[in-house]
Amino acid sequence: MGLLVFLHIFLLSVIATAPWADAWGKHGHFMVCKIAEKYFTEKTAKAVLDLLPKSAEGELASVCSWADEIRFHYRWSSPLHYINTPNCTYKYSRDCFNDRGQEGMCVVGAINNYTEQLRSYGDSSDRYNLTESLMFLAHFVGDVHQPLHVGLEADEGGNTIIVHWYRRKTNLHHVWDTEIIDTATRDFYDDNINSMIESIQRNITNGWSDEIDHWENCHNKYKTCANDYAIESNHLACRYAYKDAEQDSTLADDYFFSRLPIVEERIAQAGVRLALILNRIFDGSVDDMIQSS
Ligand SMILES: [Zn+2]
Repeated sequence: MGLLVFLHIFLLSVIATAPWADAWGKHGHFMVCKIAEKYFTEKTAKAVLDLLPKSAEGELASVCSWADEIRFHYRWSSPLHYINTPNCTYKYSRDCFNDRGQEGMCVVGAINNYTEQLRSYGDSSDRYNLTESLMFLAHFVGDVHQPLHVGLEADEGGNTIIVHWYRRKTNLHHVWDTEIIDTATRDFYDDNINSMIESIQRNITNGWSDEIDHWENCHNKYKTCANDYAIESNHLACRYAYKDAEQDSTLADDYFFSRLPIVEERIAQAGVRLALILNRIFDGSVDDMIQSS
């Protein structure tokens, strides 16, 4: 192999694994979708199974990082993973644009758009590739819950804030995508992601059960509640993610133990809400049930 070819491949692999190529890391998205699957109604489970690609082997969670894998191939989809805000407020009409000024090209617009597309499931028209719509939607509902996916434009959602996670050099965005989750899995769950999922699920049915109603509803419903999820994330980013995480700081036990509960709750919320959105799309009876409760 020539040196140039080698360098080219090496650089491509560096780019592909660069931290900003991630959303929640693979584990975060897997957990969100695994939790969602538990709350699917029968009709939803059937529709999801019908739409999943063969490679998923019947499991939505296995394709929940697909949108990250193809984002350099589908370049137009790159801005759909996040929203940048100019300060600690988020406004759809001001912030939901790509860099060409096209409205709706952000994570909230994407959730609304793919929800709308999936509503055509069962129509004879095949206007959309609903398999891709489902994989995009499942991923973006995860992303909008990662606080730094609705972070500040000035630091690209924490990507330009270089920190040490214990002794390792990384950036703040990556801490929230991956490091907090991986450290928790290693230290508390014997490196077993399924144990962490089970623990979050136990919290949904016990610790957070009083809050589920609140998670399922929102003030400004426009197609979905995604706009409110983004407001929550922006708030959490400013209040917790950026706090005590200046350029070149070292983040260790204090930061880890105080932020882990937030990460776990956001993963739980994303899972419950993804199931709710899909149940509303594929099983109309659910909408009534939720509104009357
Ligand atoms: Zn993403």
